[in-house]
Amino acid sequence: MPVLGKTTLSTKASSINRALDEIGDKWCLLILQEVFWGINTFGEMLLGTGASRGVLSNRLHWLQSIDCLRKDITEKGQKRPTYHMTKKSIELYRNGLMAMTWERKYFTTPALDSVELIHDHCQKVFWPMIECKYCNEPVMSKDVSFHKGPGAKKDIRITKTRRRSSALSPPDERGKTLYINLINLLGDRWTANIIALAFHGFNRFDDFHKELPVATNILADRLKLLVQEGIFYRQPYQASPLRYDYHLTDKGRDLFPYFVTLMAWGDKWCATGDGNPILLKHISCGAYLHAEVRCDQCGEGLIATEVHFKR
Ligand SMILES: [Zn+2]
Ligand SMILES: [Zn+2]
Repeated sequence: MPVLGKTTLSTKASSINRALDEIGDKWCLLILQEVFWGINTFGEMLLGTGASRGVLSNRLHWLQSIDCLRKDITEKGQKRPTYHMTKKSIELYRNGLMAMTWERKYFTTPALDSVELIHDHCQKVFWPMIECKYCNEPVMSKDVSFHKGPGAKKDIRITKTRRRSSALSPPDERGKTLYINLINLLGDRWTANIIALAFHGFNRFDDFHKELPVATNILADRLKLLVQEGIFYRQPYQASPLRYDYHLTDKGRDLFPYFVTLMAWGDKWCATGDGNPILLKHISCGAYLHAEVRCDQCGEGLIATEVHFKR
């Protein structure tokens, strides 16, 4: 963990932030998606992600260093190394399914619309859904409350002023990218961080700024983008000087399953030993939320090795 200094900021501990700091970069998201599809050589990934060689090589090293990819060079008769999911990254699968669900609801993405998911367990074409493990009701942001967990401490995060990288090419140029719109939006970790804070009830510029190690001009840029993209709407809360606060639209709130699955992954894989920083309660049944991503045909929980894609 970094040491507090000039280039760091102490913010509320959050498994979502930790997860985003590890894999929230758009290239990491793209690479992991390719590997889920079975694309696993450097050359194929170069084509599939559209990354430059330098960027791809950098992110592959990074993903190996955090144990999200395993490089295999030992297979017989094979000249080039291949990259594979690990125990840690395979559990991001549910998060990927929730990304697909959001993308399909709000965008026309030919690569995604033509995909059929088949669940080996029931042999049916299915679509993923997210439900409370205890009461089996769908998980929606309005039914969930946030509480301090045993790990509700501070995280020290490195301040970065990285620019938002330009949007990726349109989906028809890279058929395997199933949720390009989501990656374009959330592949910038500040944008993702801001939405996560909005789910926690933050809605003013100054409040966002206190919780994010980011420069004010970058924060202003990202808020503007989120309004343009229909994730937030602005509302005046003060007349002179005129000030706005930011609220999630329905499109924004529908990202909740994406963030819930990311948080669960961060709770498990980016833990510091203090316990979960935030606990979610499912208001509908009163239990601490344990969200399960399930098959809408047979109701069983989905795991990566039991799902196949057909196009
Ligand atoms: Zn419940
Ligand atoms: Zn099923």
